[in-house]
Amino acid sequence: NHQIHIIGGGLAGSEAAWQLAQAGIRVKLSEMRGSGDMTPAHHTDGLAELVCSNSFRSDDANSNAVGLLHQEMRALGSIIMAQGDLHKVPAGSALAVDRDGFSDGVTAALAAHPNITIVRERVDQLPAEGLTIIATGPLTAPGLADSIGAATGKDALAFFDAIAPIVHRDSIDMDIAWFQSRWNKGDGHDYINCALSKDQYLAFHQGLLDGEKAEFKQWENVPYFEGCMPIEVMAERGVDTLRYGPMKGVGLDDPRTASAEFPNGRWPYACVQLRQDNATGTLWNIVGFQTKLKHAAQVALFRTIPGLENAEFARLGGLHRNTFIRSPELLDATLRLKSRPNIRFAGQITGCEGYVESSAIGLLAGRFAAAEILGRTMAPPPVETALGALLGHITGGAEAETYQPMNVNFGLMPPIEGRTKKADRKLMYTARARAALEPWLETV
Ligand code: FAD
Repeated sequence: NHQIHIIGGGLAGSEAAWQLAQAGIRVKLSEMRGSGDMTPAHHTDGLAELVCSNSFRSDDANSNAVGLLHQEMRALGSIIMAQGDLHKVPAGSALAVDRDGFSDGVTAALAAHPNITIVRERVDQLPAEGLTIIATGPLTAPGLADSIGAATGKDALAFFDAIAPIVHRDSIDMDIAWFQSRWNKGDGHDYINCALSKDQYLAFHQGLLDGEKAEFKQWENVPYFEGCMPIEVMAERGVDTLRYGPMKGVGLDDPRTASAEFPNGRWPYACVQLRQDNATGTLWNIVGFQTKLKHAAQVALFRTIPGLENAEFARLGGLHRNTFIRSPELLDATLRLKSRPNIRFAGQITGCEGYVESSAIGLLAGRFAAAEILGRTMAPPPVETALGALLGHITGGAEAETYQPMNVNFGLMPPIEGRTKKADRKLMYTARARAALEPWLETV
């Protein structure tokens, strides 16, 4: 006699179940672990198991976007944050937790809630009717993944992240880089370009070969398909492979080389291009630069690219197994599948990234569903807040074609105009977020 069915008792599903139950709604929560099934990354039957690190990252709500998200979730009665705080272990300004105590705490709280029924079962089909939240995470079992793929359409469900790094626009040196699209196509200035000389290119190529790579877990072993081949794998194919691939310089005129003979400038030996990644234009991804280089090696190497010497990265590159849907085109503003509005998605399968972000989207999915069942309307959180910025990115702000999972960061919020010191600007973002959250909280 449940009113809503949640599939997946990970971070998002547990948070969604809690929010609904607290609103007085009867929830059935299906979790396959404990019924003989396991994902390649989980080890226990506990709800909200942390599969890797035990950190919820920075708890600084004044100058860090994920810390701000913590604060907003606490204000909304998050079970994930409550249990995280209860099982905190020393970690400086970060919030790290005792993973077993945390998972046991979430499991016990949900099991004890009179409105929640936990069923240990694997679900293989999207339910045809009834309100449902899909929160099966990056390692969604294959049967259900197929069913989701059938409902969302070919190409709209990804199984791997081939993540290219994303750079904060205001950290790119535009005295060196310039706006132009290859052969001046489209508007003619859609990309940011960073030219490399022959020496710079050869050093960069060598850096790719020498850089320390992250090991691939066996279950992540994938044949690369051309569209998402890591740059270091391309580099291994030959010294010029990148120069004829993502780093080609043809059709681009470096204005710094302008002369009487070439008034617009000359084509560079090699060129790195960045493409706008969000609607506000604060974030730009490095085109074709998906990579398995370790994060420190990426930062060091990418900062050798002219124009990116001081680049700040909103996200570094990576490649791993990750089931997620193309949310910006598939979901409405309250996380419902447009084609089947009885179904909501929550957690990492929506294309957010990280424990806290997944939980946050679970929280919002639970709240939106509760409002729907209770016949109320709930406005999405303001885009100035961390919750609103993350939700906005997932449900419309990001480019659908190149959609890739994303951590919460200030670049997802409307930019703060004017020149300010970076540290001050962070304080401005978080102060603005708190001011925006308060009136919204009173409406929910
Ligand atoms: P999950 O927490 O994975 O929950 C999904 C649940 O659904 C699981 O319990 C699963 O058993 C269940 N399920 C799946 N299919 C079915 C089905 N058909 N029927 C019933 N139940 C089903 N984020 C970080 O912040 N820090 C990290 O260190 C980190 N490391 C990661 C390491 C790996 C290997 C992976 C894959 C991801 C990592 N993440 C990390 C990213 C992400 O934040 C976590 O995966 C997070 O747990 C996602 O939350 P979720 O609720 O969306 O999914």
